[in-house]
Amino acid sequence: MSRQSVTVIGLGPMGRAMVSTFLDHGHEVTVWNRTAGKAEELVARGAVLAPSVEAALGANELIVLSLTDYDAVYALLEPAADALSGKVIANLSSDTPDRAREAAAWAAGHGAKHLTGGVQVPPPLIGRPGSSTYYSGPKDVFDAHEDTLKVLTDADYRGEDAGLAAMYYQAQMTIFWTTMLSYYQTLALGQANGVPAKELLPYATMMTSMMPHFLELYAEHVDSADYPGDVDRLAMGAASVEHVLHTHQDAGVSTVLPAAVAEIFKAGMDRGFAENSFSSLIEVLKRPAV
Ligand code: NDP
Repeated sequence: MSRQSVTVIGLGPMGRAMVSTFLDHGHEVTVWNRTAGKAEELVARGAVLAPSVEAALGANELIVLSLTDYDAVYALLEPAADALSGKVIANLSSDTPDRAREAAAWAAGHGAKHLTGGVQVPPPLIGRPGSSTYYSGPKDVFDAHEDTLKVLTDADYRGEDAGLAAMYYQAQMTIFWTTMLSYYQTLALGQANGVPAKELLPYATMMTSMMPHFLELYAEHVDSADYPGDVDRLAMGAASVEHVLHTHQDAGVSTVLPAAVAEIFKAGMDRGFAENSFSSLIEVLKRPAV
């Protein structure tokens, strides 16, 4: 069976992993990157380096973009917009849902179809089982290119709205960045008390492994807008986060993160949620200005 040839624009660590995986699976790949030197190894393996963005667009119907953000997308594609007609852009660059919607409309204005993508895994996991990418955009366009895109990762189609894949991706990254930052905060506290990261690691792992239970329970609260205080009361949580804040203050480490957490709990108390579960904080997050 002949495999679909593809263009990849953007050869950061992610783009390079993608090209490499396409080559491993026997796809012909045309590449372009602002810093041409990053294509060297891939060209040695059989990729074709296009002399210009226009030539890269002209080489194939399916164009995979792996750029830092949508500013980079426009910086590259705007001057080459005449070459976009008839192309399918699988835009796997990170940015906001609104910018993805804007880009889909912009691409349509130039006769191209746009699939938004949000890659859920780091470069070493591209091409590995269990990895996945969110996609959204026209279903028929996704269906037509699903097999080729699945060479990179599984494809999790989230719907027609161009913004959806970006929303899911940014939702996931919200959890990633805040969780990792809370981990570093904990390690800073440990170090201030003479406890190295390796000593805290099993306890941090134990706490994060309990999270699926909490996520499931509180998803029910949030979807039903019912926050029973039968297991936990916000008033208890508000006292606890003050203890956390003061522990970090006393250790002389940054209090920016624990103070932000305490502030959100306080806003919940001010709204009269003391006897509800701390899942009632969703009301503060949804309508911060009330
Ligand atoms: P990088 O930021 O390292 O590289 C992205 C590419 O964007 C490079 O080819 C770079 O070109 C190009 N670029 C940036 N700005 C411009 C510009 N103004 N004009 C032209 N080209 C530009 O990103 P990654 O490869 O790590 O990731 C690519 C995308 O995948 C990002 O949106 C990222 O958020 C997402 N992603 C990354 C993950 C990761 O772990 N790396 C995980 C999941 C998603 P040049 O080489 O010339 O600098």
